[in-house]
Amino acid sequence: MCTKCTGLCCRYFAHPLDDPEDWDDFDDIRWYLAHEDVSVFVEDGDWYINVKNKCRHLSEKDYKCAIYDKRPKICRGYTEDTCDLTGDNYDYDLHFVNDTQMEEYMKIKFGQKVFEKLEKKKANKSKTRNKKK
Ligand code: SF4
Ligand code: SF4
Repeated sequence: MCTKCTGLCCRYFAHPLDDPEDWDDFDDIRWYLAHEDVSVFVEDGDWYINVKNKCRHLSEKDYKCAIYDKRPKICRGYTEDTCDLTGDNYDYDLHFVNDTQMEEYMKIKFGQKVFEKLEKKKANKSKTRNKKK
């Protein structure tokens, strides 16, 4: 099957995140999501960050791995059976593709007023810091 594929599984990586608990944790995720080609998803209750960035060893000529014999363990464990080409569509509990979506989620989770209050507090803090310089 890989011979018919352009190496979809070699064009990103996903990494588990600690489950966010409070405002600051969610705000950190909002910051991740402010970056291009980053998304965050929740699957079976676990949070992951996904970075769309091609592996440097994927050949664009034949879409093969240039270091196949010494490819990392995580690549060896990946199988065609449930991969990006052949598997079912992902069934995410939540999926954020930008910081605006996280902002909306935080407004619902923490309430609009809490959001404004905290943003104001942070703005005041940074003003104080700037004055001290
Ligand atoms: S494992 Fe799946 S996604 Fe990865 S190269 Fe093979 S067919 Fe494509
Ligand atoms: S090392 Fe090879 S198999 Fe692993 S992600 Fe890169 S190109 Fe794909």
